[in-house]
Amino acid sequence: MPPSPEPRRVSILGATGSIGTSTLDLIAGGDGHYRVEAVTAGTNVKELAAIARATGAAYAAIADESLLGELRQELADTTTRVGAGPGAVEEAARMDADWVMAAIVGAAGLAPTLAAVRQGGVVALANKEALVCAGGLMIEEARQSGCVLLPADSEHNAIFQVFDADRIDAIEKIWLTASGGPFRDATRARMMAATPEEAVRHPNWSMGRKISIDSATMMNKSLEIIEASHLFPVSEERIGVIVHPESIVHGLVSYHDGSVLAGLAAPDMRTPIAHTLAWPDRIPASSRRLDLAATGQLTFELPDENRFPALGLARAAIHAGGSAPVTLNAANEVAVAAFLDRRIGFLDIVAIVEATLARVETAATGDIGAVIMADDEARRRAEEMVLERSERTP
Ligand code: NAD
Ligand code: MG
Repeated sequence: MPPSPEPRRVSILGATGSIGTSTLDLIAGGDGHYRVEAVTAGTNVKELAAIARATGAAYAAIADESLLGELRQELADTTTRVGAGPGAVEEAARMDADWVMAAIVGAAGLAPTLAAVRQGGVVALANKEALVCAGGLMIEEARQSGCVLLPADSEHNAIFQVFDADRIDAIEKIWLTASGGPFRDATRARMMAATPEEAVRHPNWSMGRKISIDSATMMNKSLEIIEASHLFPVSEERIGVIVHPESIVHGLVSYHDGSVLAGLAAPDMRTPIAHTLAWPDRIPASSRRLDLAATGQLTFELPDENRFPALGLARAAIHAGGSAPVTLNAANEVAVAAFLDRRIGFLDIVAIVEATLARVETAATGDIGAVIMADDEARRRAEEMVLERSERTP
């Protein structure tokens, strides 16, 4: 009998989240093919400890420094090493792993994702905000370290699978599909009154709260246009968005002979994650199967940029360049958090992003320090606008 291959060493940044949980599900189904090196979380110490225990992870890191004692206590009878604070999360990202899932939400994932990229190996990228803020730097670091950066976001993963990288000149356009979110058909008046509970209720996907709100404003697609501009050698004008409420077709590539190749799958993030986990191979995954006959009909429509102005902001930010995408992302994070806290209304989210982009000057972002400065500045400005608007709300 041939010797069984060494297990693949994997780390999961953001292990307690929606993507983290889907990733752990695939790893648990991997018949001992994987050895978990590091797992991280923001504040959910009990769940992180349970994950470390179940996977036998070598290292568990919690971003909230004050939770070190609790994490240590939870894992006292195990061999898992523990750490706390942003530095510990970065240390987890730097551990020697063959494959790292970058699934921290928001710009908080930037430094750890970059650390994973610098370490080499394969990085499966779910944390789109990191790419939006520092895509150029990240691609350059990946080139230097030999890291293979694979898109885990469903649209980009689908495009990656049908993108003929050897015939880039033959590619006319790439297309991201959008479900349209819970307010696809809603009037602006209806959206104005939307509550956080209504806005997080996505019709097809079960996801973390922040990305669910981004889907409702369509800022998610805006971030994804910027994400695509870094992942694929295609200019902004050739990145299309089409609304497809069934979320079955995730991405498409149009070629100059008229051929269009599309990536289809049931809306289940385990499918694109499994693709990145096995790439360039394929592994069997327990994700939901697509039943086209049961689906019956696939529909498509153009996005309404009047009701969803977020889409235009991404394109403007790409053209402005420099820190504009950082500003867009930071203002959005601040505004989404304020909406979830009921400090501002739903329509205020994109309005604040737009106003922040108009007020903050675009600067060069040649290094990570400049990115962090631009992120800080945009957060401060956006926070001021949240205050102004929340004071106006009766
Ligand atoms: P989530 O909120 O469910 O999970 C986020 C994870 O990040 C958790 O483990 C949390 O503990 C951790 N975290 C939060 N703040 C942190 C901090 N300051 N420092 C360190 N860790 C922190 O989010 P999610 O839905 O899993 O999304 C994660 C990322 O993947 C996002 O960038 C999102 O846009 C992207 N994504 C998600 C989906 C999806 O279906 N959920 C699909 C495509 C892309
Ligand atoms: Mg997506």
